[in-house]
Amino acid sequence: QISLVWLRRDLRLDDQAALYHALKNETNVLPLFIFDTTILNLLPNKFDRRVDFIHQVLSDMKKELDAINSSLLVEYGDPIDVFSELIDRFTIKAIYTNRDYEPTAIARDESVKKLVESKGIAFKTFKDQCIFEQSEIVKDDGSPYSIFTPYSRKWKSKLNDFYLKSYPCKKYYHHFYQGDDFKFPDLESLGFSKTDIVYNKFVLSREIVRHYDKTRDFPALKGTSRASMHLRFGTISIRKLARYALDYNETYLNELIWRDFYMMILYHYPKIVRHSFKADYDKIPWLNNEKDFKAWCEGKTGYPIVDAGMRELNTTGFMHNRVRMIVASFLTKHLLIDWRWGEAYFAEKLDDYDLSANNGGWQWAASSGCDAVPYFRIFNPEEQTKKFDPNRAYIRKWIPELDSLDYPKPIVEHKFARERALNVYKKALAG
Ligand code: FAD
Repeated sequence: QISLVWLRRDLRLDDQAALYHALKNETNVLPLFIFDTTILNLLPNKFDRRVDFIHQVLSDMKKELDAINSSLLVEYGDPIDVFSELIDRFTIKAIYTNRDYEPTAIARDESVKKLVESKGIAFKTFKDQCIFEQSEIVKDDGSPYSIFTPYSRKWKSKLNDFYLKSYPCKKYYHHFYQGDDFKFPDLESLGFSKTDIVYNKFVLSREIVRHYDKTRDFPALKGTSRASMHLRFGTISIRKLARYALDYNETYLNELIWRDFYMMILYHYPKIVRHSFKADYDKIPWLNNEKDFKAWCEGKTGYPIVDAGMRELNTTGFMHNRVRMIVASFLTKHLLIDWRWGEAYFAEKLDDYDLSANNGGWQWAASSGCDAVPYFRIFNPEEQTKKFDPNRAYIRKWIPELDSLDYPKPIVEHKFARERALNVYKKALAG
């Protein structure tokens, strides 16, 4: 008899809630990862850094488990079919997993729970990917917050050592499954190719966190923690990062609270996946010009800070937060293109893509979100550049042809675009 720990976005063997509880309560604990075809089949590109990253992390994990004579079970398919098959193959006592707050993940977990419980197998879930989840931080009347500042105030007042303590999985490593080894699939057999991404264990720089409030807005500097992909896949524990933040820099802690905030918003308002948080904003008559969208995607708008950001994204799978805000504002306001188009493009390209943070960021920029920038605040790309890339070091890195004739003229004039956006938004919101 075995118990399974179903890994998803919690790919580590220490300070991992579900794994800890499984190892503590059960014996013969076998970690399982499913390459979920309902997700993989949606990826337009079979050259995907995220799939490669997961594969590398699992390969590392497998080596660690091999070294203690245990193993890792890696499956491929629709989770429902995989579990049906596993139930026939093994005698399973319980399945442990960490909660996920995306609507499709919630539905998936409910179906799996129903299936396994009908066979007498326990399905136990835990909080692991955030500090506070679901309705842990709500207003005094029990309703969810939609404004960040009071949410963060309550978040901080509720925080204590209990929520930050790490789960010492190693203490119970002797409860890992000991038995047959399981085959580890290569990336090609999953239908994907090797990319340029290299998985290294995440190391948080104390220096970066300490100076974070002063450096975080300058894309030419190494001034942010680059934790996002690791948080996305759980190769670092959020509790560990929050402990650091608490000790060293409150601004950094606030960013981690934004992450919890957007997860909470998605949990309570799943409609935001397709709709504006503020319903009125779905009345905006977007221009959705395909040619403009293509120029934006390719980093050829003639606005250097926008183009630098898009080229960074296209080349590396990452974009600095300040620049994400600028390019998102530019797409939705200067070009009047639906935020959902930009959101989908980011979802395809970002290595750290996370539905809650991405949707939150896009709806913030488009002004349609909870606690978003007001619609009449329209970033001026030139002013943003003066403030945050004054020597144009970031721009020059990504646009070597900046001063040549090859660099395009601005796709739209700033003053005209600004007035147009103000009028369109105003009219739509009034009607
Ligand atoms: P740091 O500045 O070092 O921040 C530390 C961590 O805090 C981040 O890793 C992240 O987990 C969290 N964080 C920081 N800012 C935010 C924020 N505004 N919202 C939620 N969490 C935050 N972040 C994603 O993780 N995935 C996304 O898909 C994503 N899409 C975005 C789209 C837009 C339009 C915008 C404006 C922002 C988006 N962000 C997203 C938030 C933010 O840009 C990234 O988290 C950040 O740039 C990652 O770099 P870092 O790890 O160096 O961040």
